[in-house]
Amino acid sequence: MKELLGGKGANLAEMTKIGLPVPFGFTISTEACNAYYQADKNIPPDVQDQILQSLRILEEKTGKVLGDPERPLLVSVRSGAVFSMPGMMDTVLNLGMNDETVEGMARLTNNSRFAYDSYRRFIQMFSNVVLDVDVFFFEQLLEETRELKGYASDPELTAEDWKEVIEGYKKIVKKHTRKAFPQDPKEQLFYSINAVFNSWNNQRAIIYRRLNKIPGHLGTAVNIQSMVFGNMGPDSGTGVAFTRNPSTGEHQLYGEYLINAQGEDVVAGIRTPQPIHTLKTEMPDVYQQFVETCHLLEQHYKDMQDIEFTVERGILFILQTRNGKRTAQAAITIAVDMVKEGVIEKKEALLRVDPDQLNQLLHRRIDENYQRTQLAKGLPASPGAATGEVTFEADEAELLAKDGKKVILVRPETTPDDIHGIVAAQAVLTSRGGMTSHAAVVARGMGKACICGCEAIKIDLRAREFYVGETVVKEGDVITIDGATGEIMLGEIPMIDPELSEEFQVLLRWADETRKLGVRTNADNPEDTRKAREFGAEGIGLCRTEHMFMDPARVPIVQEMILAENYSERKEALVKLLPMQQGDFEGILEEMQGFPVTIRLLDPPLHEFMPEKEELIIETTMLRITSPGSAELKEKEQLLKKVRQLEEFNPMLGHRGCRLGMIHPEIYEMQAKAIFYAVARLAERGMEAKPEIMIPLVGHVNELKEMRKLVIDAANLVTEETGLNLTYSIGTMIEIPRAAITADQIAEEADFFSFGTNDLTQTTFGYSRDDAEGKFLQAYIENKILPENPFAVLDRDGVGKLVETGVQLGRKTKPQLKTGICGEHGGEKSSIEFCYQAGIDYVSCSPYRVPIARLAAAQATI
Ligand code: ADP
Ligand code: MG
Ligand code: MG
Repeated sequence: MKELLGGKGANLAEMTKIGLPVPFGFTISTEACNAYYQADKNIPPDVQDQILQSLRILEEKTGKVLGDPERPLLVSVRSGAVFSMPGMMDTVLNLGMNDETVEGMARLTNNSRFAYDSYRRFIQMFSNVVLDVDVFFFEQLLEETRELKGYASDPELTAEDWKEVIEGYKKIVKKHTRKAFPQDPKEQLFYSINAVFNSWNNQRAIIYRRLNKIPGHLGTAVNIQSMVFGNMGPDSGTGVAFTRNPSTGEHQLYGEYLINAQGEDVVAGIRTPQPIHTLKTEMPDVYQQFVETCHLLEQHYKDMQDIEFTVERGILFILQTRNGKRTAQAAITIAVDMVKEGVIEKKEALLRVDPDQLNQLLHRRIDENYQRTQLAKGLPASPGAATGEVTFEADEAELLAKDGKKVILVRPETTPDDIHGIVAAQAVLTSRGGMTSHAAVVARGMGKACICGCEAIKIDLRAREFYVGETVVKEGDVITIDGATGEIMLGEIPMIDPELSEEFQVLLRWADETRKLGVRTNADNPEDTRKAREFGAEGIGLCRTEHMFMDPARVPIVQEMILAENYSERKEALVKLLPMQQGDFEGILEEMQGFPVTIRLLDPPLHEFMPEKEELIIETTMLRITSPGSAELKEKEQLLKKVRQLEEFNPMLGHRGCRLGMIHPEIYEMQAKAIFYAVARLAERGMEAKPEIMIPLVGHVNELKEMRKLVIDAANLVTEETGLNLTYSIGTMIEIPRAAITADQIAEEADFFSFGTNDLTQTTFGYSRDDAEGKFLQAYIENKILPENPFAVLDRDGVGKLVETGVQLGRKTKPQLKTGICGEHGGEKSSIEFCYQAGIDYVSCSPYRVPIARLAAAQATI
């Protein structure tokens, strides 16, 4: 019942049901939260009644009463949304404390130190969350008290000390709110419920929701739960544990705890906690019971759990469980292991890994063979390597990142208020806090590298520097961190290409068994082709030929071809280009080892191969002064003249694609011949190659008809010359709306269609994809005029409809017509799902996205 009770509430109920030791409590539903907002942030009277009624039941169950000095009930008021948003919303602990109940607590527990410590915690938390008084003031006072009394840490404070602190705290509250600290527990309760409801819309919760695409209308539930105390002495404590390592996925309990501490102490990163395995010696029985509980919860939820627990005088209580956030690496390892353990099915395992998350594993990392000189070492909280400038403030990190700088956020610890800085940074480094601290949890969730609890670095926030022994690292200095090992290094460190781990390959094999969509790659050189093959590409869906023309060694010849005044001059230049192109194609076709390779003939407008006009104007002007009449000047003037001739108002809608081939057929002819010669050469060496020749930017069937003839003629010519029978096909890109809606006619001349969804999006929306994003698209997305950037996520309603139409009409003419998509969408999960539904045969994406596409294609069929 997550929708109604929130994740925390639903799981608390579930755990109670399966007999786990959960403190009694009740949940105020998300419906009540929405009613609160509808009533202009007031709890409607009927909801108030229900809360009071539930409170009475809780009082009966526990035998305690809220505000009763003899038998005081203390509760926590905990937020809990449908989708977990760790630490983003508010929680109040020890509610029900006042000047009278604190004495009752002291008497009942025979521990006045504990009672007054709990009271001051409550004042601090309630004042911060409900009355909006900054914790800083309380912490400052506490620090002053510690110094004054010569204590090193909080547990040294006596009951009398805490009483003094409490008096000071009350003064702070009075000063900042102009009211005394509220003593009536019911008042405290309703104030807190309001505050938790309101925390649904605090800044960091809003940012977190936006980042994780969680809808804003869901609201949060509120859990009222009787308190258990981890701060009752050395036989008490509190902790957090994951049932498996959330960073690597290793099947091993992973967590931390603090003795004599309460609630947030562990996650807040203020004291560095102890690793969970030492609990085995400190409290063997509790440890054993906890291990069993972990196993039970994993079996029950069939997933890795993130569990909060508290031990009160040797008795274990479970306070929360949820599916643990994890890195991509951990997600894969856990999913694969759980199949092997028989906990889940392969299909479920495939759904457990988010294709977007895989990006993390397909990034470059530090070369293991590189001799590193490590500056310091902390806890390896989230893997990945990152290099960047050191910055100490979240706001600063955000500003620098906006300027395109790569930064590493270095903090003593992070709080939920730093979330925007973590988003902006390449990585996070903290000097305090453990592997379950806020920074670690958030970084892992985002797939960012993170090192925590690196006590070797001494941070001086005021001087904006940190030092390790003699070494000083100032704001703006570059460091590299390796989140997998916890190492920090000065300067930039060389990185290498990623490889797929064994588990990753296992998962991808399962994906291949499941998926129906083919996965190809976009590649136009042998290196990319090789990488893509390694990542499992089953062919090339788009090999662009223009990059080959851009090679600096070739540009002069390409320009010669463009400058040609007549056919025979142009032919001369093309004769020089042909063997170069042939070499390119041989390399690529060889790497693809007989898998199909779609080669697109020249697409961009010719001016792209020419120098910039402004540059030429400056150069010719200079030459006219320095060396008038020189050959160089003449050459530049000629270039400038041609550049002016080629100039177009709207080059992306101009003379490009097949329009080039139509007007200068000799260019396409040369390319077609180069392809077929390459095939012939490979055949001589006993290798098979399957080129698919693709004509770009066709809008009318007649264009394709002409170009098809041209390609066939080139093939026949090569066959005549070499005596080889060539296997090839000819198709077109569908990237103009007219082509999609006349696909039945176009299919007469095509063996395949490849939907060029980049240009198709551009031409369907009429947005220039090179300009739109910066100018208005961002605003459109922010204002929800468009749900997503259509250049990133395929627009199903518009562009998608054209794709479907194209497929259907094309197949009406040619039932066997092969169809694919190339362009950015081919590596994006939602677009891939759409392609599968539209009956497309394959998607094609950049080499590094091939594994993502394989998984997403499998998920589409499940
Ligand atoms: P969050 O969602 O931010 O984790 P929680 O509601 O889980 O917030 O509470 C914060 C901390 O307080 C947790 O460490 C939790 O274990 C502790 N806590 C919450 N309720 C109780 C309770 N009834 N008794 C003892 N500790 C509690
Ligand atoms: Mg919690
Ligand atoms: Mg195009």
